Amino acid sequence: MNSSGVEAHLGPGLRPDRRRFLQMAAAIACAPMAERLGAAGLGAAVLRRTVAVPGGFAVVHLGPDAAAPIAHFNGDRVFVSGTPSAWLAIVGIPLDSQPGRAPPLTIQYSAGSPRVVYFTIEEKHYDAEYLTLKSDQVDLNPADLARCEAERTHLQRVLRTYSDPLPASLLLLPPCQGTRTSTFGLVRFFNGQARGAHNGMDIAAQVGKPVMAAASGEVIDVGDYFFSGRTVLVNHGRGFISLYAHLSDVKVKPRRRVMAGQQMGKIGITGRVTGPHLHFAVYLNAVAVDPALFLLSEPRVQPLYSL
Ligand SMILES: [Zn+2]
Repeated sequence: MNSSGVEAHLGPGLRPDRRRFLQMAAAIACAPMAERLGAAGLGAAVLRRTVAVPGGFAVVHLGPDAAAPIAHFNGDRVFVSGTPSAWLAIVGIPLDSQPGRAPPLTIQYSAGSPRVVYFTIEEKHYDAEYLTLKSDQVDLNPADLARCEAERTHLQRVLRTYSDPLPASLLLLPPCQGTRTSTFGLVRFFNGQARGAHNGMDIAAQVGKPVMAAASGEVIDVGDYFFSGRTVLVNHGRGFISLYAHLSDVKVKPRRRVMAGQQMGKIGITGRVTGPHLHFAVYLNAVAVDPALFLLSEPRVQPLYSL
């Protein structure tokens, strides 16, 4: 673990508990493969206690095996990393999960029949947010409903993309400069009606400002959708995927490689929005998880979890 490199990422002024958590997460994300499990072993207990909440992730030790075990959660392939002496799974936990025993994590080792592991989901309270939209953006007509359903199915399929190469890092760069206007997990009311929780982070900025890839990867979808407007999805590897929505000008195409920090489009006002902003979402095993857990250099990130 390169502690001085990690320190450089964090900067002064963070609460000690937040700082310690970020150091643990950064250690896992930054350490070379051979060192990763050592760092993960140090951080896993903290991470389990800290982020195994709805919208977070669980770090589950899988033990030794000659090759990376194949793990599934709710039928979706799970991020697995490590070395033959010790593997670990990083499991995205759905926002609508109940606290308590999680559904089974199924693990196929290189020999023998699959095994099942359970972990515990801890409680987390998310605040509510009240938004006002045009009524036809809340009460959808049958044609819009059918469109949304088809788009939801398409996006869910894209989010199930799983490729074997390991991401260079679990750290993400800020995808744009701007002001955080809505955090992940807020329970949303549109015109007074309860809707699903917010599954990403909103960053407000002027139309036309650049939007960058938060990490290197492959563009796996470019679309223009009812809710998210012009949207790009990037696959970073092993089910770790980022999504950029409401863009005004998309420069990239599917199957193109992008580098961390490379401009992919511009801030826009497309889809269902109340003003120009980027909706930024991060996924593990097709589950939306809190982007703030990975954006270690984002200056406006607020402490979401305490140890
Ligand atoms: Zn959003």
